[in-house]
Amino acid sequence: MKIKVFDTTLRDGEQTPGVSLTPDEKLRIAKALDDLGVDVIEAGSAITSEGEREGIKLIANEGLKAEISTYCRILRGDIDSAMSCDVDSIFLVAPTSDLHIKYKLGTTRDGLVEKTLDAIQYCKDHGLIVDLCAEDGSRSDVKFLAKLIDSANGYGIDRFTLADTVGIMIPEKMSEMFSQLIKKAKVPLGVHCHDDLGLATANTLAAVKAGASVVDVTVNGLGERAGNASLEEVVMALKLVYNFETNIDTQKIASVSKLVEKLCEIPVAPNKAIVGENAFTHEAGIHVDGILKKPETYEAIKPESVGFKRRFVLGKHVGMKSVKVMLQDLSISVDDEQLRAVFDQVKYLGDKGKRVTNVDLEAIAHSVMGIDVRRAIEVDELVAVAGNKLTPTASVKIRLNGKEVIESATGTGPVDAAINAIRNATKEVPFELAEYHVDSISGGTDAVVEVMVKLKSKDKIITAQGVGSDIVLASVEAFVNGINLIIRHIS
Ligand code: MN
Repeated sequence: MKIKVFDTTLRDGEQTPGVSLTPDEKLRIAKALDDLGVDVIEAGSAITSEGEREGIKLIANEGLKAEISTYCRILRGDIDSAMSCDVDSIFLVAPTSDLHIKYKLGTTRDGLVEKTLDAIQYCKDHGLIVDLCAEDGSRSDVKFLAKLIDSANGYGIDRFTLADTVGIMIPEKMSEMFSQLIKKAKVPLGVHCHDDLGLATANTLAAVKAGASVVDVTVNGLGERAGNASLEEVVMALKLVYNFETNIDTQKIASVSKLVEKLCEIPVAPNKAIVGENAFTHEAGIHVDGILKKPETYEAIKPESVGFKRRFVLGKHVGMKSVKVMLQDLSISVDDEQLRAVFDQVKYLGDKGKRVTNVDLEAIAHSVMGIDVRRAIEVDELVAVAGNKLTPTASVKIRLNGKEVIESATGTGPVDAAINAIRNATKEVPFELAEYHVDSISGGTDAVVEVMVKLKSKDKIITAQGVGSDIVLASVEAFVNGINLIIRHIS
């Protein structure tokens, strides 16, 4: 059976505290979701603001394959607003728990049914697809829900969605509720779960097992409070564990996740399932050894299947084999004795709690091998200025393979300007900055900072570090260390 994916990254996801997207950003995400293969895009809530309506309208008129939906309360004004944005369908939200009916709406069950049916009629009169959603459905009387579905069927609803609005469900109860509802429903059932107990994915899957055929999800699990069921988890579990199909092109999951992370400015936790930085990263020697023999030993999900690449990192749990593979990756060949010496030093640094970057690994290998490396780039002079009413500007004088190069650049701040100037001076080296990260080691404004960068060159990611009390110099050091490694071993 095919399960429909209803993505609400642009509505519930945007309700994540601190997230606000411009109309253009919404359109970019909508296009990526459409390309990913989601069936329905909930583009927003039209009544919210002028900018929100602009975004929804842009998406609705983009000619995407997906059905474009918007959130509406059971109010004609909300539906009018939605129609002014040219959407295909309405996610019509009716609170159905007695708690919500009494305290939020100040009405009765009968009063709610009447208002709901009126809103459905209004939508249908205007030719809209209606997905009736029982808000706080998980805390509603299932007999009342069945009655509501029964009446709504008569008014021509197209889907019915049960929402676990406050994230209080457990899989067993979800299964029980959907087994009841499926008997009444003449239309596809959807499920909308929140992750307050970390059960959003489990509850969504339980609903599907009991008959739901539409899953409401968000990319990276964004959403109100603890977030919604995440698209990547639900889709991969449906595919790998339950053998349900979706229209999702799973290899595009990584890039969509990164786009949403960037535009929503909510960093994905490193240990997040499927899309976290560590999801396909291995440090432990035993695991790396197993993976090198047969990847399935420690990878139940193929990294490529979701658009990621496997990564090995160095630390105190590292094994001899991973050190060897990572050296080979840098085209450094060592004999067994040298390998043992490099391995010992990596372990020693790991034990001290130090992160061992690719640049560190190379330096260790070279010292073990007795090789004195000439750095391709040396920074001779660097000036970076910033201030009030001044465009941050930097100029550098470097020696690139002995040749003097002078360049300058502006930026959003002195670090950015300095990095841009270095980049201008090293244009011929093929790489891009994939990540920049600063840690402050001590507390004051004179703190020592540790800058970690990841540079991407020809499909390889290399890590490098710079340390010091001047953030501009530490950043440039990390950056230049990384470029030097790329010049020696990759480009
Ligand atoms: Mn929600």
